[in-house]
Amino acid sequence: MRNLSIDAERLWSALMEMGRIGATPAGGSRRLALSREDGEARDLFVRWAKEAGCAVTVDRVGNIFARRAGADDSRPPVCIGSHLDTVPTGGKFDGVFGVIAGLEVLRTLDDADVRTRAPMEVIVWTNEEGARYSPVTLGSLAFVGAHSVDYALDRVDADGISVREALTEIGYDGPAEVGDREIGAYFEAHNEQGPLLEESGNTIGVVTGSHASRYFVISVQGMAAHVGPTPMAGRKDAMVGAARAVLEVNRVGNAYGPDGRSNAPHIEVWPNVRGVIPDAVRVSCDLRHREQAAIDEMEEDLRSALTRLGDELDMGFELEPYFAWGPMSFDPELAELLRAAADELGYGRQDLRIIAGHDAVPMTEVTRSGLILIPSRDGLSHNEAEYSAPEHVAAGANVLLRAALAEAGIVADRHSRRT
Ligand SMILES: [Zn+2]
Repeated sequence: MRNLSIDAERLWSALMEMGRIGATPAGGSRRLALSREDGEARDLFVRWAKEAGCAVTVDRVGNIFARRAGADDSRPPVCIGSHLDTVPTGGKFDGVFGVIAGLEVLRTLDDADVRTRAPMEVIVWTNEEGARYSPVTLGSLAFVGAHSVDYALDRVDADGISVREALTEIGYDGPAEVGDREIGAYFEAHNEQGPLLEESGNTIGVVTGSHASRYFVISVQGMAAHVGPTPMAGRKDAMVGAARAVLEVNRVGNAYGPDGRSNAPHIEVWPNVRGVIPDAVRVSCDLRHREQAAIDEMEEDLRSALTRLGDELDMGFELEPYFAWGPMSFDPELAELLRAAADELGYGRQDLRIIAGHDAVPMTEVTRSGLILIPSRDGLSHNEAEYSAPEHVAAGANVLLRAALAEAGIVADRHSRRT
């Protein structure tokens, strides 16, 4: 059993096969949550999970649970999960790696006829990216009860299509109640999406916790007018106000040391036509920092900058929070299991804190949760060129296998029955 190891080639080829669904010309994947492509990816996962002998359950928000029975099936399952949805110009690894690594763990156990004491499950969460539906980690947040099922189902995309409609369209409006299952422990493996592992030369990052993240919408209220005859002096151009606000967001991210982060990646403009000075703009932004005290200061800094802008430009500026998470800590016992697994396998490792959100974060609300990261080439993610080396992908799955087995317990395997 100590030599049990995942099949690196099978893992890599499954990852590449999944990446071909919604493949983009530049070598990435476009599988927006609950799109036709996401539906295809889910179908492929479900087929593979059933072929590996799993029972598949889908809940009302489309989260998928593939279960491999345990010797004591009344025990809560040890779970491995992540997501199959991508941003519009996503890569082949973000999320998919965690799902396929979980599947490879179950396939490996099957090949070796290993019976675990507790059941094991691979989970595919709905709309982790938040690219089509806001907020991020929608499926896992619903699972842990952070928001209601109706709230999740009522989210709409830019075309007004609700999660409810999209789920029905692809056939993943499952019958299971959301959150109606106990989880013994949750593991997730993800690509780092940053440069630290590559810089240190380590293979495995054991995540101890996260930075704090706060998400806002900045609303700018100006006044519509003709773009030509209206004198420059009298204008209340909400787009100009938004541009100044974006610069303030960027300034705040730079002003709080190397642990500060900020961005303003989404904008809505009204009426958004040529010929009319915009009267209303909404800019989504977020602030992140390692320290709670610093994120408080960053928010206050941005708030007073917007007040000053409002006075200077004689327009309305509002900063409205809509989502926040962290700083949080992952389970120390599971982190120790993951470190031990990496050490036994001889992989260089280090502790890390995440600045990106993952489904493993909400899961800390309902179970013990552990997260590992593998290196991302050039620290690049949310980009079609995102890449992790096959040996790192295999290493991550092997660490998951060991840690999950240690957690689930082994009853018998072919080898031990023979001897
Ligand atoms: Zn992800």
